[in-house]
This record gives sequence, C-alpha cells and structure tokens, in this order.
Amino acid sequence: MERILVCGGAGYIGSHMVRRLLDEGFDVTVFDSFETGHREAVPRGVEVFEGTLNDPGDVRRALKAKSFDAVFHFAARIQVGESVGHPSLYYGNNVAGTLNLLRAMVERGIGKFVFSSSAAVYGTPLEIPIREDHPLAPINPYGWTKRMVEQILADFWRAYGLASVSLRYFNACGADPQGRIGESHDPETHLIPNILKSALSKSPGPVTVFGDDYPTPDGTCVRDYVHVCDLAEAHLNALESIWNAPGARAYNLGNGLGFSVKEVLAAAERVLGMNIGYRVAPRREGDPAYLVADSTLAMRELHWRPRFASLEEILETALRWHRRPRY
Ligand code: NAD
Ligand code: UDP
Repeated sequence: MERILVCGGAGYIGSHMVRRLLDEGFDVTVFDSFETGHREAVPRGVEVFEGTLNDPGDVRRALKAKSFDAVFHFAARIQVGESVGHPSLYYGNNVAGTLNLLRAMVERGIGKFVFSSSAAVYGTPLEIPIREDHPLAPINPYGWTKRMVEQILADFWRAYGLASVSLRYFNACGADPQGRIGESHDPETHLIPNILKSALSKSPGPVTVFGDDYPTPDGTCVRDYVHVCDLAEAHLNALESIWNAPGARAYNLGNGLGFSVKEVLAAAERVLGMNIGYRVAPRREGDPAYLVADSTLAMRELHWRPRFASLEEILETALRWHRRPRY
C-alpha cells in the first residue's frame, strides 16, 4: 500500500483529496497547521500531524513518522489581495515553507511530489484558452509564489531527482457529492460560496459583483470552474504519471468552459429556484477579464477527464454542503 503525506489535508481541496485517497485504499497522513483548515474535515482514524511548514523541525518530524512514498502539497495561503498587502507572509509560507518540505523530502529520500499550482502563474492571459506554454507572468505575489515553487521543482528534479507534477488549477469549486465536506474559508472570497451563503442566509442580501465593465459579452469576468473532486482525481493520475515517467511537469486543470459572474448567478438561481439580487461594485484589483484553460495536455498525458462539466451539477454539490455545513 502506498503511503501518502497530504500537506494541507484539512483545507478545502486537500480534505477532498484525503477522502479520495482513503477510498482508493492509500495509507494517508495529514500535515496541517489548521490556520485555515478544519479538524472536522479530516476523517476520524487518519493520522494527523499538527505543525507548520515554516518550522523545519515540524516538517522533519512529520516526514520521519513513516516511510512515505509521495507527498501531495496543498498547504498555502491563498488570497490574492492579502498577498499584495503581505508579500512577506506569502513568500514565507508558500515558498520558504515549501522549500523546508522539499529539503526534508530530499533528506529522507522521498522522490514523488504533487504540487497545487494555479492559473495565477499566467497573469493576464495573452491568449484564451490558456495552454501550458503561455508565458508565465504573474501579476501578484500569490502567483509569484506558485511560479517560484514550480521553478524550484524543475531545479530539484535536475539536481536531486525529486520528481514532481505541478497542477495549475483554474477555479476550484463544488463539494463532496455526499455533503460530508465542503468549502469553508473565513473570510470567504470565492464567488460560488459567496452566492450560496448569501442566498441561504436568513436575511438574503445582494451578492457583490466586482465590475461589469470588462471586455466580455456581459461585462463581468469569465472563469473556468472545475470541480474539487475532478482536481482530486487528477492528483491520482499525476502520481501514476510520476511512477511511469518521472520528471518535473506542469498541467492545467480546467473544464475549458468559461462562465461569467452573471452566468454563475443565473445558474445558481436555477439550482436554488429563487431570484438572487446583486449589486455592482468596482473591479477587484488584479482580476483578469478571462481565465479559461486548455487542459488538452492533462487529458492526453495524465488521461484526465473532468466528470463535472455542468455548472448546475457543480452548484448542486456545493449547495448540498452549504445547506448543512458542518464546520
Ligand atoms: P485552504 O486554505 O482551504 O487549505 C490550505 C490548507 O493548508 C489549510 O488546511 C491550512 O491550514 C494549511 N496550511 C496553510 N499554511 C500552512 C503551513 N505553513 N503549514 C501547514 N499547513 C498550512 O485552501 P484550498 O482552497 O484548499 O487550496 C489548496 C491549494 O490549492 C493551495 O495551494 C492553493 O494555492 C491552491 N489553489 C486553490 C484554488 C482555489 O480555487 N481554491 C485555485 C488554484 C490553486
Ligand atoms: N467575484 C464577484 N463577487 C464575489 C466573489 C468573486 O464578483 O463575491 C468575481 C471575481 O471578481 C472574479 C470571479 O468572481 O471575477 C471569480 O472570483 P473567485 O474569487 O471565486 O476566484 P478567482 O478567479 O479570484 O480565483
């Protein structure tokens, strides 16, 4: 049985990964600081190391616990706006913290790594849909942290033979179809949970739409929404690809379909069967008009097929969680 360490396994995407790994029969250990993650998101019986990547001692202790075959790394600070105001926090946590992890892996001879990268490595896209050979030109510290780690991974492969796959997620969304876990960030900045939380609250208020003057068909930003369970699936494919052909590669993960903020609102109205009011606020700093993935490479080389392509279906899974959030 393969032993996997999931860093950030108490967070939104990491906790879905943990469930999937358990379903597939892997031996799973979680490493998390619980800064933004939730204890309740980790199933009972899973071994948990509470510690921070910022402390090399914590990382070494966790890696010594078992002879891990691979590390899946989800742990990061994830707010673009915050990264602009506190770059030190972001470079410290996402880059220096990851470096601590990678150094400890090299020390322990653990040679397989799957990294949560982001569409933020591309910055403002020159072409849509975005392919992996698009220039990497982040426009905020968060995006830079992802790009820097990808560079570190390329160098660690060449120098130490540490094999990796970086998965550049577009907009992660949805939840466990059984409603056991879901997205719960504080503060919540993401569109879909904000719409659902607002619609389900006792006194529903309008959803804030950041900008309706973008050069898109309805003036609101277009994004590629990809289900969290499809992201988890891609990690399993990535691990297999590292076994078969080790290297340091990066893949986009998106559905290849773009939905505007207003289209997401309309889909949520259909799923909820109610009208949702909105008010238009100024553009949010650093939001590109369009972000849509070309995931052909992941489909071809990782044999990845997203199962949740319909926005309604994605919203239904998210809604199941938001109706009865457990944390
Ligand atoms: P999240 O905040 O829900 O989860 C991150 C987890 O990492 C939390 O449990 C947190 O406690 C833990 N963590 C953070 N810093 C840590 C540290 N120094 N030491 C130990 N644990 C630490 O975030 P998420 O939405 O699940 O995102 C997971 C990953 O996916 C991140 O790397 C993020 O950058 C990337 N990503 C997310 C999205 C998205 O749409 N949510 C899109 C692209 C990329
Ligand atoms: N957005 C919005 N209102 C919100 C949250 C987000 O209009 O309450 C917009 C945001 O400006 C972006 C899109 O919805 O154009 C997706 O934002 P989200 O934060 O979900 O993901 P991001 O694209 O920033 O990763």
